[in-house]
Amino acid sequence: MFQPFLDLGGNRITGFEALLRWQHPSRGLVPPSEFIPIAEETGLIHEIGEWVIRRACATLADWPEDIRVAVNFSASQFHNTAILQTIVQALADAKVSPRRFEIEITESMLLSKYGSAATVLNALLELGVTVALDDFGTGFSSLTYLRKLPFSRIKIDQSFIRDMLVQPDCAAIVKSVIGLARDLNINVVAEGVETADQLEYLRQIGCDEVQGYLISRPVSADGVLALLDTKKLRAIYAA
Ligand code: C2E
Ligand code: MG
Ligand code: MG
Repeated sequence: MFQPFLDLGGNRITGFEALLRWQHPSRGLVPPSEFIPIAEETGLIHEIGEWVIRRACATLADWPEDIRVAVNFSASQFHNTAILQTIVQALADAKVSPRRFEIEITESMLLSKYGSAATVLNALLELGVTVALDDFGTGFSSLTYLRKLPFSRIKIDQSFIRDMLVQPDCAAIVKSVIGLARDLNINVVAEGVETADQLEYLRQIGCDEVQGYLISRPVSADGVLALLDTKKLRAIYAA
């Protein structure tokens, strides 16, 4: 499934995040929160990850040139250096520019056994792949992480967005992160935007992009093309 990013300056969709779903024969749709931890433990995450990368790149080839795809990675995926070749090959096979491929990692990933991951990530950055820091604010939130890699984007965790209009401390955190990112020349995405009031507030305080059920729930590859086609989206979210 793919969930769009809406750019608040241009009122346009700039890309989609690939979100894994597992259709189980008897249990129905299993969310990633249930099977990713098991896949990490068993080592199956490498095969699953490779499948996600290949599918994301192949799907990206059907999208307009100015649309990116963002893929989530588990820390352990970077301990296997073959991941580099997998990404390079998938981009080449799909004939898409590495600049349209974004890697989403979390703060915890920068914490444990970071050494080998740094080598792989730096090689990918040299290719032109971009890196986003996901769920910002929920991990150990040491600002040192922001200096470890040249991040293109910070994604403010949905827990802050959900409470920012009811809890002043949350609003303060969201505003500060946006200010910090601006000074560091990093883009900001607000995750989990569900109401028009949240969107309006984020627009006022200078957030670059938003993602959440208000704009769209995750959709299938066909749904992506339909969304990019929707004139309605423009009318609803125009300032
Ligand atoms: P994430 O990367 O932070 O993704 C955002 C999650 O929030 C997604 O849940 C998305 O469906 C959900 N979400 C989006 N908008 C809203 C909203 O407005 N309200 C609410 N309440 N939720 C919203 P999902 O798809 O269940 O994914 C959960 C997590 O699983 C992801 O968090 C990511 O860390 C992980 N994940 C997903 N796909 C992959 C993958 O291919 N590989 C790895 N390693 N992890 C993945
Ligand atoms: Mg993510
Ligand atoms: Mg997130």
